Amino acid sequence: MAGTDRGDLTRTAILTLLGTVGPLSRTEIARELDLSSALVTQVTRELIGHGMLEELDLKPSRGGRPAQRLGLVGTAGRALGVKVTAERLVIVDVRLDGEVLGSWERPFDPSAAGALDDLADAMAATVAAVDQTPPILGVGVGVPGGVDDQAVGTVNAPTLGWQAMPVGERLRRRLDLPVLVENDVNALAAAERLYGTGRTHRDFLVLTIGRGVGAAIVAEGRVYRGARGGAGEFGHVPVDPSGPRCGCGTAGCLEAFVGAAGLVAAARARGLLADRAAAAGDLPGAVAELGRAAAAGDREALAVFAEAGAVLGRATAGLINVVDPEVVVVLGEGVAEWEFWRAEFDSAVRGRLLPGRRDIPIEVEGWDDTSWAQGAAALVLATPFDAAGAAGEQGRLVRARLIGATP
Ligand SMILES: [Zn+2]
Repeated sequence: MAGTDRGDLTRTAILTLLGTVGPLSRTEIARELDLSSALVTQVTRELIGHGMLEELDLKPSRGGRPAQRLGLVGTAGRALGVKVTAERLVIVDVRLDGEVLGSWERPFDPSAAGALDDLADAMAATVAAVDQTPPILGVGVGVPGGVDDQAVGTVNAPTLGWQAMPVGERLRRRLDLPVLVENDVNALAAAERLYGTGRTHRDFLVLTIGRGVGAAIVAEGRVYRGARGGAGEFGHVPVDPSGPRCGCGTAGCLEAFVGAAGLVAAARARGLLADRAAAAGDLPGAVAELGRAAAAGDREALAVFAEAGAVLGRATAGLINVVDPEVVVVLGEGVAEWEFWRAEFDSAVRGRLLPGRRDIPIEVEGWDDTSWAQGAAALVLATPFDAAGAAGEQGRLVRARLIGATP
């Protein structure tokens, strides 16, 4: 492929390996990648010279002399990540090792005529405001919708009212930086690959609960995107055709039952949240109130979460049976109330898994307001480790910035 020389591929493969499994000795790198030790010695010397790798402790070995391990330098680069929602932008500044250096929130109206200019303005202002050492390698954008290709970045997002929006193109022109755009759940999976479950597992599912319900499928270490970048729309698995209307235009989807709006509607049907009728716009606030009621022992509130747990558990069992992952990670704003989902979810999911899969680990991770945006930044920070080339030309530009960053 033009622009991707052999050296770039070897460098990328070594960075990928160290980025995903952690520090290794040169001998281990040569063995894992089936490279000659002379080539590994040469390329790692170069990467150490560029400030991207460092020599760590000596690893004791049986017999022979201890081997020096090599690891990534977490301070060699940084990325900006932005999560776009219907009400606001959440922006983070993250270092290569995942350390968050800063975060910002700005109001945002995706339906405004100049919405793309507003997004570009916000990112340009952030680029201007942050330190340039270490250098910004690129900008990652997470959107609640479909993205044709990370490196092109044309977005279809019904919840934002966006159809064929040229987000990537517009931001690249304005910022003069590499820009990667991706579905927000897939971006979280990129973060898991880099800093979480993906370090130790190659096949896993990421499920998100909150306003929407989503999934990312990581197969053999890569996020499965589907033919149009639309894989993982778990929220639109049909549950019951006579169920509530769904934002996608049909009725009875999983999301219509267990997404934030579904929880609030179920709570209202049980006589809860009556004083919230006028505040329909504040779904997170309504769900938090429902959570407080459940925490106080309100039986109706507990029943809403229990029912949601059962519905989500059944659907999740179906997904696990289809995909056969090693582990499932549950994330999203909705995990704040997970203790009330848990019991019914667990029994619904375990009871419907095929024999031999019933002990699959399901991990519920911590969450905060910047987690989505950190996922978006991970799109950029993962590209030095992107041996498969998912980030295309933009990924090559990110690597060039990283390698060019130090003399
Ligand atoms: Zn739907």
